[in-house]
Amino acid sequence: MTGGFKIGRLFGIEVRVNPTWFLILVFLTAALATGFFPSSFPGWSPNSYWAVALVASVLLFVSVLVHEFAHALVAQRQGIEVKGVTLFLLGGVASIAKDPSSPGREALMAGVGPLTSFVLGGLSLALFAYAPLPEFAAAVFLYLAIANIVLAVFNLLPGYPLDGGRVLRALLWRLSGDQRRATRGAAWTGVVFGYGFIALGLLMFFGPSGFSGLWLAVVGWFLTQASRQTLTNAELDARLDGVTAGALAHEPGRWVPPYVTVDHAADTYFAAGEDRCLPVRPQDDDRLYDGVVCVDQLERRPPQAKDLWAVRVRDVMTGAQGIIEVAPETPAAEAARLMGAEGAPAVAVVDNGRLVGLVDRATILRRVHLWQRRTSLRREPRAAA
Ligand SMILES: [Zn+2]
Repeated sequence: MTGGFKIGRLFGIEVRVNPTWFLILVFLTAALATGFFPSSFPGWSPNSYWAVALVASVLLFVSVLVHEFAHALVAQRQGIEVKGVTLFLLGGVASIAKDPSSPGREALMAGVGPLTSFVLGGLSLALFAYAPLPEFAAAVFLYLAIANIVLAVFNLLPGYPLDGGRVLRALLWRLSGDQRRATRGAAWTGVVFGYGFIALGLLMFFGPSGFSGLWLAVVGWFLTQASRQTLTNAELDARLDGVTAGALAHEPGRWVPPYVTVDHAADTYFAAGEDRCLPVRPQDDDRLYDGVVCVDQLERRPPQAKDLWAVRVRDVMTGAQGIIEVAPETPAAEAARLMGAEGAPAVAVVDNGRLVGLVDRATILRRVHLWQRRTSLRREPRAAA
C-alpha cells in the first residue's frame, strides 16, 4: 500500500503518491462538492462548488503531507533513516526505518504529527474567522480547520500504530521499562479500536453519512491488520531474542555455477534436500557471489524458454543486486521481517563484502520451533512441582 510513484523530494525525503490516492481525491472532492460546501455555503454555481471542493481536497492532502513531514523530520533529527512519505488511500504515511531509542523520543516523534495538525487547524480557523477573505477562500479555510482538527483527534486515539498508540506505547514503556510489553499493550488497544471503527463505520454507513462511515470502516480494518502485524512481529522478536543473522547463517557447503542447467542444479546441488537456497558463483576462489538460487526458482522457468535443457541457473537466479544483504550482527528477527516485507526467500549475511552465508525462511522457522520446545521443557518441571 505504501508503494507508488515519486513526485519529488523535500528536505532529502522522497515524496510518493500511491495510485489509490487518486481514488480518495475523487471521492473526497465529490463529497465536498455535493455535501459540505452546498449545505454550509448555499447559493453558489455548481461549477464553483466543484472547483472549491477540488482546491480544498488538494489542500487537505497538503496538510496530511505536512503532518507526515513533521514525523519524518523529527525522526531524521534523531538520526533515524526516513525512506519517504507516501500519500495513499487512507491519507499519508512516513516510512521510518526503525523505532526511536527511548520512550521520550518516541513520544516526541509520534506527538509532533497531531500537534502539527492542531496548529494547521488553528491557523485555518483564525483565517476563516478574522481574515478579510472572499467567501470561496473562507469556505476552504473552514473546511481545512475542521478536517485538520478531526485528523489530529483521530490520530491521537490510543491504538498502535496510530500516533496516539505510539504515545501510549512510549508511556507504557516509560512505566514498565519493557519496550516489548509496551508494544503488545499498545497493539492490543489498536486491535480493539480497529474493530470499534469497523462497527461504528458500518453503523454510519447505513445512516446519513455513508461515505465517512465506509472510510472509517476501511481505516478500522487497516488498523486491526497493522496492530496484528505488530503483535506477530513482537512475538517473533521474543522468540528470536539475542539471535543474530550471523548465528543462523549456514555456511554454504556448495556453490552452484551459473552456467549449469536448472535440471542439473536440481539433481546435483539440491538433491540432498538440506538447503532451500544456495549461492551462485563461477569459481571457488573468493567469497563474493553472483546471486542466489532457490529450489522454487528452478521450477519456475522463464516464459521465453522453449528448451528446458537450455535454461540455466543464471536465467532464473536472483542477481546479487536483488538480494537483501544484512550484517552478521543484525538481529535474526529483523532479517525475518526484511524477508517478509520484500517477499524474498533468503537474505545474504555479508561481512565487509564477503558472503558469510545465507539465512532462509526454513532456518528461521526451525529456530522458532527450537525455542518453543525449549520453553515447554523449561515449563515441565514447574508443572510437576
Ligand atoms: Zn501521524
